[in-house]
Amino acid sequence: MFKKILIANRGEIALRIQRACREMGIQTVTVYSEADRDAKYVKLADEAVCIGPPPSTHSYLNMPAIIAAAEVTDAEAIHPGYGFLSENADFAERVERSGFAFIGPTPESIRLMGDKVSAKQTMLRSGVPCVPGSDGALPEDAKEVVRTAKAIGYPVIIKAAGGGGGRGMRVVHTEAALQHAVQTTRTEAGAAFGNPAVYMEKFLENPRHVEIQVLADTHRNAVWLGERDCSMQRRHQKIIEEAPAPGIARRVIERIGDRCAGACKKIGYRGAGTFEFLYQDGEFFFIEMNTRVQVEHPVTEMVTGIDIVQQQIRVAAGEKLPFGQRQVQMRGHAIECRINAEDPYRFTPSPGRITMWHAPGGPGVRVDSHAYSNYFVPPHYDSMIGKIIVYGDSREQALARMRIALSEMVVEGIQTNIPLHRELMLDAKFIEGGTSIHYLEDWLNQHRR
Ligand code: ADP
Repeated sequence: MFKKILIANRGEIALRIQRACREMGIQTVTVYSEADRDAKYVKLADEAVCIGPPPSTHSYLNMPAIIAAAEVTDAEAIHPGYGFLSENADFAERVERSGFAFIGPTPESIRLMGDKVSAKQTMLRSGVPCVPGSDGALPEDAKEVVRTAKAIGYPVIIKAAGGGGGRGMRVVHTEAALQHAVQTTRTEAGAAFGNPAVYMEKFLENPRHVEIQVLADTHRNAVWLGERDCSMQRRHQKIIEEAPAPGIARRVIERIGDRCAGACKKIGYRGAGTFEFLYQDGEFFFIEMNTRVQVEHPVTEMVTGIDIVQQQIRVAAGEKLPFGQRQVQMRGHAIECRINAEDPYRFTPSPGRITMWHAPGGPGVRVDSHAYSNYFVPPHYDSMIGKIIVYGDSREQALARMRIALSEMVVEGIQTNIPLHRELMLDAKFIEGGTSIHYLEDWLNQHRR
């Protein structure tokens, strides 16, 4: 096992990785920007190295600075967390070429899954069902594009092969709008992702977002750890996640989970990963794979009892997964609410000093956050400042515990989306379960104040 790991991230996930390392007796090196100098997890780290000024391009995305920090501290491995460099194949390659272990998949896997066209083709070959669409990237030939759309049936969605973060997509309802949409998406994709390739999919009108968590080692073992429903989204940003997904038959989930684990074996995948699907009318359609730990991983940890971050580290050190598929059991229900520093209804960011922070507690309540009273939320990064995760024997109990946790939580000095979460936990449709990816935006439009 590694003796020392460098954590190339910030905020709650930096603290989460640090805690996993502590439990395993591994020393941690935290890198930080000048804006995060006073963060508590920086002080808690065994060693801390400043890697640059606040803008992430100069710090958390600064590959030479991060690798130099690993060199001077004699770290053996680098954990990238999520966001920043976590899905950057060039970074993974540089980490390995510099003699460190990258706690994540191989650069080849990251590259394969980072291009959505090659990811989809790989999935189709592995028997993972995908959204019906073009056979690879769209050709330049306009007539061919029209024929493809006709065959798929309108509405269709044009997506950038290199897209991410909900950007580089355009829905098309008529043939008249097709050419313009393809051209515009191509131009934008070239500028934003350095890759103008686009592809076409059937636009699903009312799906849910359901994803499968996987873990794979370097000894050809791969398991799936159940599913998560992340349909409560605004502008493609998830805000509430839960496991299991309400109202989907276990055998349907099992079939898709087995396909995902099979695909991992086929491509020689290593580490933690997530297969994202749209689920509509009883069917799963693959949209993309995330080759990293996800924000919402705790709900899976709560229902399976498996520490995903520790398993990532073990697998990176070459260990075998300590359990097979049959040992993975989902029990009870978990829900996560992301706490963002923002206006709860207008969504404008609200950075600044937290004058009072009181986290909830009690049975089945977990709070993953780096915030505390007098913590200053820097304006330079994502607005998420923590997560409340609850566990219950049933979904009803989990919901009740989340309501209590949200009622106990106090954050003063900045605005947060806690009031929004409190309302949503009382919403009849959400309580019923199984809302689509459009539900939250529709709800917000109706409740606009
Ligand atoms: P990104 O990497 O940018 O997150 P995804 O491929 O995961 O891109 O898609 C993001 C979101 O866009 C999905 O969660 C869904 O809301 C919407 N979307 C993508 N593809 C389709 C589709 N074929 N039909 C309907 N909605 C889609």
